[in-house]
Amino acid sequence: MIFSLNDLFLSKTFIEAMSEAMIVVDQQGLIQIANYHAGELFGYSADEMIGISIENLIPISQRQRHQELRKEFILAPRARSMNLGKDFVSLRKDGSSFFADIALNPVETKTGPIVIASVRDITARVTARELLAEKIAQLEILHQIGISIASSRDVGDLLQFIVRQATGLLGAMSCSALMPDWETGELIFMASVDDLIGVRIPQGKGVVSRVLKAGQAEFVVDVSQDADYFPEIDLKTGVKTHSYLVVPLSTDGKTIGVLTAINKKEGTFTQEDCDLYAMLANYAAISIEKERLYEQIHDHAEDLNRRIAQRTTALRASEAALKERNLELNRLFRASETLFFSGVPVVDEIGQIIVKTVLDVFGHSNCSLWMLHNDDQELEHIAGLGPFAAEISAADVRLEANHFAAAIRLGKSIRLPDVQHVPEYIPRWKDVDSELVIPLKIGKRIIGILDIQSEQRDAFNVNDERLLSIFVERAALILENARLFKEAQWLATTDSLTKINNRRRFFELGRIEIERARRYQHPISAIMIDIDHFKQINDTYGHALGDQVLYELAQGCRENIREFDIIGRYGGEEFSVLLPTTDLAEALATAERLRQWAVAQVFANLTETETVSVTISLGVAELSADISDLAVLLDRADSALYTAKQAGRNCVRANS
Ligand code: GH3
Ligand code: MG
Ligand code: MG
Repeated sequence: MIFSLNDLFLSKTFIEAMSEAMIVVDQQGLIQIANYHAGELFGYSADEMIGISIENLIPISQRQRHQELRKEFILAPRARSMNLGKDFVSLRKDGSSFFADIALNPVETKTGPIVIASVRDITARVTARELLAEKIAQLEILHQIGISIASSRDVGDLLQFIVRQATGLLGAMSCSALMPDWETGELIFMASVDDLIGVRIPQGKGVVSRVLKAGQAEFVVDVSQDADYFPEIDLKTGVKTHSYLVVPLSTDGKTIGVLTAINKKEGTFTQEDCDLYAMLANYAAISIEKERLYEQIHDHAEDLNRRIAQRTTALRASEAALKERNLELNRLFRASETLFFSGVPVVDEIGQIIVKTVLDVFGHSNCSLWMLHNDDQELEHIAGLGPFAAEISAADVRLEANHFAAAIRLGKSIRLPDVQHVPEYIPRWKDVDSELVIPLKIGKRIIGILDIQSEQRDAFNVNDERLLSIFVERAALILENARLFKEAQWLATTDSLTKINNRRRFFELGRIEIERARRYQHPISAIMIDIDHFKQINDTYGHALGDQVLYELAQGCRENIREFDIIGRYGGEEFSVLLPTTDLAEALATAERLRQWAVAQVFANLTETETVSVTISLGVAELSADISDLAVLLDRADSALYTAKQAGRNCVRANS
């Protein structure tokens, strides 16, 4: 369709009515029509634009290019956008420029082709796009920073990385990171693209301190004019700082440091830079916090590991201790088994085995064993081992008020961790520091105590007490068995009336002595004793008194011979004595001593004046080659006794 110019003028009304800037340009590039919006856009009144060259709306730098584009368009005119994007810049009357988006529409007229152009200012769009691109680039960098941060293990390295990246990102001259020394309150350069690492800013000095305190980012147009300006840093770098950007490193509302950016020129940092840097700082802070947490966790884990290791060691130790205890227990049981099956019937020997076992197994200093006697009125020292064992005597054991008494009274172990602080403690035992007293119990009956002493304080623990108690329980049984055995043995070997050896026991012991005498070629002699006219004693005073006389005579004789001489009740009122290492002459002397003792002895006071006395007749014989055994020796002595009776009694005769 071909319009006439008149038509076009008619269309002017249309163009005027358009809401966009519209310009009609003729073939020569002169503006024929420009609507109100076009005037507005280019800074002209609508009339001013009519007749001027379109070149006036194009900056000189782009005119050459514009002319080329116009030529191209005239050769192939069709409606299209100039599509020059942000590259195409239009010029306002005042000389300022804007990014223009231009749509072209060619129109044939009778006077030649014209172009209707609609022009739009897209500066905002272009800027936004630029910003977007910039943001994308920043985000990419931030993403890279994020990755680096996430993999960084060292706070210093991390901060150094951040300040290096930030310097580029912010177009700053240099960036730094500062963190406080919480002890001195100073701020220390932790990272810097300048050579500032380790440099300190005194407490409260500089904008950095202000930001640290407030936790609020600041961009300062000219820091040299700031009241908090701290010029020493500029002196160090040799650069006078004007633009200054400081953002806090904050996590969870706690400011742990600051990041700075500087420029020589004033006012180079914007709110956007500030936001970006704050974002970076946020990253860094989170990362530092992560690092701190990691270290904490690491420390915690290490601590945990250490504790687990300790526990394992302790466990192993206690396992080892347990094993050791088990071994001890086995030893204890073996020891007590040994006691049981040793067949040792002698209480004292068993006592000795017990205390030795205790010291062997537990390794303490002293151990002693005591048994109760005389209706539990006194303690007899049965056995003892260790440096103090010899010192212990019955005098030390006052049953009224010491720990021995307490153990017996309570029927419980008494543990004295520090005896030197026990007031009634035996002061002589100054090397004893702790003690354990365990009662020997048969059921509920207490038969004695086991006393263990240590030269160490608090040497006994509950476990020792428990183990020893188990052992002592068995030991008590064995001791009691031994005691019963001893009693039974005593009963079996002792004459119940006179309490001296019975005939069987006398022969038993006597035969051993005869053997020994023969082996060592020692002399040995025998004495036979018979009470004179004993029937009369019985007849006159009664059988009971007769018994009493028998008892007293037997005891008297025993007391008047040596410890290792053997006396026995041979028959009714006859006694036999065996005198080892004694020849006939010595035996005769002993016999005579016995006779004289009997004569002098008052056996009973019947009334004030009437007493009971007896005489004895004694026959003596010495072992000789022609005597085959004890029985024969006693026969020989008996013959001598017969001779004594024949001689009128109350006399001593030797076998001839
Ligand atoms: P002789 O001087 O000749 O020995 O005169 P005798 O009276 O002692 O005579 P003989 O030795 O034959 O008598 C022993 C008497 O001792 C007989 C018995 O009644 C008495 N007799 C023996 N055993 C006991 C005893 O256990 N208790 C008491 N009371 N008397 C006893
Ligand atoms: Mg007789
Ligand atoms: Mg007689």
